[in-house]
Amino acid sequence: MSAQGSGATAHPGQLATAAVRALSPYVPGKPISELEREYGVTDIVKLASNENPYGPSPAAIAAMQQAVADAWLYPDGSAHELKRALAAHLGVPASWLTVGNGSNELLLMLAETFLNAQCSGVCSQYGFAIYPLVIRATGAACIEAAAHLPHAAMPYGHDLAAMAAAVRADTRLVFIANPNNPTGTWVGEAPLRAFIEALPAHALVVLDEAYFEFAALSGCPGVLPWVADHPNLVVLRTFSKGYALAGLRVGYAVSHPEVADALNRYRPAFNVSNIAQAAAIAALGDPQHVQAAARRIVAERERVAAALGSRGVRCAPSAGNFLMVEAGPDAPRIYEQLLRGGVIVRPIGGYGLPRHLRISIGTPEQNERLLRLLGPMLKAAPA
Ligand SMILES: *Cc1c(COP(=O)(O)O)cnc(C)c1O
Repeated sequence: MSAQGSGATAHPGQLATAAVRALSPYVPGKPISELEREYGVTDIVKLASNENPYGPSPAAIAAMQQAVADAWLYPDGSAHELKRALAAHLGVPASWLTVGNGSNELLLMLAETFLNAQCSGVCSQYGFAIYPLVIRATGAACIEAAAHLPHAAMPYGHDLAAMAAAVRADTRLVFIANPNNPTGTWVGEAPLRAFIEALPAHALVVLDEAYFEFAALSGCPGVLPWVADHPNLVVLRTFSKGYALAGLRVGYAVSHPEVADALNRYRPAFNVSNIAQAAAIAALGDPQHVQAAARRIVAERERVAAALGSRGVRCAPSAGNFLMVEAGPDAPRIYEQLLRGGVIVRPIGGYGLPRHLRISIGTPEQNERLLRLLGPMLKAAPA
């Protein structure tokens, strides 16, 4: 055996790039099966991953069942029919569209396509955790702009002035979630337009509208119509939240066709399954289902926020299907007690918000169960 051949390392992880070794992994909400296993609790309510409890359109379920028979075939890699349906639904040319295995994959594709170690990406403090992850994985610098202060109108929200000031000559991507996750806060139409128009031409702005269906009912602007006049704007949407298809993994980007062309060069060949494409097409054909669920969830969000407020618990304003609740120094203990009561919420200490919990809005019965469990805990917590 040659000298080179005998040097098998006991630490092959060290062979990963320095950029990847330095990443902190994304921590998802606790799955129901894990809570069952660890605590022996049954009848669990998961309010931890901003899933939509009303589920997808029955038409989408039927389409998935039909598509199962074709699972032995590779899907249409170009997602022709899905893009056609999306183009009609959105009123944009199909050449502006890129489909992803969830919008998470589009975030990865954007980073890999526009960043390298000589570039930087800008995001916000308390912004969606995937942005710094995809920026840093490419070796690019991640510049995190300071967020609004806790007592601002949009507590912990994106500060567009700070984000504009963070843009450098080497910046290629700026990530804005509107509304943001985990805070629920949003930026208004006029400041957002001014921000995009003042951005230098060497930077793209990625406007992540994962919660669009709820945002549209909550005073948070959607910017899809701006793509026509703003070649450096990329809008991301997903079927995971409003359409209640999180498990299928379908998202899409709407952009200038040259940006779509660049993304589609790098896109994995068969990145969205045929079952997912069929479901997404059928879901687009049943807008009433989505709108009815979104209306219920937004009404429940306001009811839960008011119920918490009447107990002296602050929630940040939210345009999503979740609330960021100020639980105080006892937040970790409250999280644990809720788990024992069979309700999973999301601690967000990893976001630098150890006193807060992010709580997804469920059905009225699920939300009642949460409020009933929370009541005595909040009374026990020091004011
Ligand atoms: C949930 C969420 C997404 C959606 O991710 P998918 O990969 O489409 O499931 C994207 N951005 C933000 C801010 C989110 O909260």
